[in-house]
Amino acid sequence: PPPHLPSYRAMLLGEPGVGKSTLARIFGGVEDDYDADFAVEDYYQRSVVVDGEETTLALLEFCGQAGEEWLDDELAHAGDAYIIVYSIAERASFERAAEMRIQVRKARQADDVPIILVGNKSDLVRSREVSVDEGRACAAVFDCKFIETSAALQHNVRELYHGVVRQLRLRRRRG
Ligand code: GDP
Repeated sequence: PPPHLPSYRAMLLGEPGVGKSTLARIFGGVEDDYDADFAVEDYYQRSVVVDGEETTLALLEFCGQAGEEWLDDELAHAGDAYIIVYSIAERASFERAAEMRIQVRKARQADDVPIILVGNKSDLVRSREVSVDEGRACAAVFDCKFIETSAALQHNVRELYHGVVRQLRLRRRRG
């Protein structure tokens, strides 16, 4: 990133299939839908203007799963913020998101890193298994921000990334 721009790194976590790659590709502005199944992680970096201020945000997509031995160490160095994604159409992914939230807190005990809980696939209205209220309540219990997105419709995706930047700025200014 240009040296004069504040830069942040956010890590995307969540069960396979919840839409992390799709969310990251929208952020990265990548049109082609290449198959990156072989990759351990994916990385996108760009500058964004939020509230009239430019910031460089890097998105790191973590393809491992909570509970794996190496996750703690990986997590401990990975991000300034964590974006934990579940699918509103898959309850199991919601439960895993809560576990990941616990794991992130354990790995980053010392610092109060921003965490954003994301209920993706909000377009799948008829197969919804997790209500907005449940998502919101979970975020309240775990003391993190909450947003529902649809990567498929590109709904709330910009709001998500802008929210991440705002959280990071607040924290840096306080810190
Ligand atoms: P990842 O494994 O978490 O990276 O998930 P992917 O980004 O690969 O998405 C898994 C599948 O869900 C793909 O078929 C995507 O097209 C689909 N998908 C991702 N986001 C959405 C969404 O918001 N709505 C719907 N209906 N499908 C989505």
